[in-house]
Amino acid sequence: MKYEQERGTSSEILRLVIQKMAAHPATFAPLNYTVWYEHLAGINPGLSATMNHLLSSGKKLDDDVIDHLYSQFISETGHKAEQAFRDGMQQLLGKVANFAEQADQQVSQFGNSLQTYNDSLRPDLDLGKLETLIGNMSKDTHKLHDSMQHLQSQLEASKQEVEKLNRELKSAQGAALTDPLTGVANRRGFEAATQVLLDDSAIVARGICMLMLDIDHFKKINDTFGHLFGDKVIQALGSLLKTKVKGQDVVARLGGEEFGVLLPETTIEGAHVVAEQIRLAIEKSKIRRQDAQEPIGGITISIGIASYHGDLTTMMDQADQALYVSKQGGRNRTTVFGHKSP
Ligand code: GH3
Ligand code: MG
Ligand code: MG
Repeated sequence: MKYEQERGTSSEILRLVIQKMAAHPATFAPLNYTVWYEHLAGINPGLSATMNHLLSSGKKLDDDVIDHLYSQFISETGHKAEQAFRDGMQQLLGKVANFAEQADQQVSQFGNSLQTYNDSLRPDLDLGKLETLIGNMSKDTHKLHDSMQHLQSQLEASKQEVEKLNRELKSAQGAALTDPLTGVANRRGFEAATQVLLDDSAIVARGICMLMLDIDHFKKINDTFGHLFGDKVIQALGSLLKTKVKGQDVVARLGGEEFGVLLPETTIEGAHVVAEQIRLAIEKSKIRRQDAQEPIGGITISIGIASYHGDLTTMMDQADQALYVSKQGGRNRTTVFGHKSP
């Protein structure tokens, strides 16, 4: 199925769509909803690029523009991406078959020359000839080694092409990597971005930590001020996290009102400093409601910290356990995994 967003995520997108559509003259027809939905869900990069361009130039979207966007980016794109994937795979399979054939030929040539050398290795062979023979064998071995290495690197390039095609297909099929409400990564995006860093042994060697953050008593915030305000709080936390991290750090909304931050090349002490800066900034902040009433303060978050020891799931679990200790300890605090609640 094209739309993989769960009920909770899709209802968040629904609320955003209604807000955004209201500012434009197009009718509230299903086509218009679809265009906004795909744009805000972050599942249609081509459409989003064009929408962002139109919106930033102040364009008001009427039915004609919507029709155009729909036919250009929605009615055909899934089909196009699948076709591109199929064509790409076919070409790659052709290439790989060709590599295998080349490798086969080279190995059998090498076998033949070994046979020839073997035949010429007679007991009466003089030292000069033996030296030439060994020199030739060594040259042939190097040649085989070089061409195997060349094939290996071509295969590696093909593997990366397959992965790229696969990502493009996933994105065309609606498997987004970005969270629509906050614009930060979603869980899938977090795992993908994190994996890239974990594959780099130099980064791993310098130490990696993560923060798991969760808004305190969020249910009460929703119940008291409404879901729209709740969404605003989640957005505010997402924006704050973006300003508090740097470089290769990964910020993600992992679920409802829970965020993760990956801090590569950071010690537990460093991660603790970052966590406390975030926690205190939220504690001090006030968030304005839609209707410009008094801004609301008193919102707090709890944080758990863990470090990486070879397994991403374990680190996420441990950060989650530390977060739980912060909640049990009274909330609005930071706990390092394996330590007591402060
Ligand atoms: P705790 O301090 O233990 O974390 O309590 P809590 O109330 O924050 O935690 P709980 O997990 O019980 O409630 C989370 C609530 O978050 C429940 C759910 O309705 C709400 N929620 C999840 N996603 C969204 C969202 O996208 N927008 C809004 N407004 N609310 C959401
Ligand atoms: Mg909570
Ligand atoms: Mg929660």
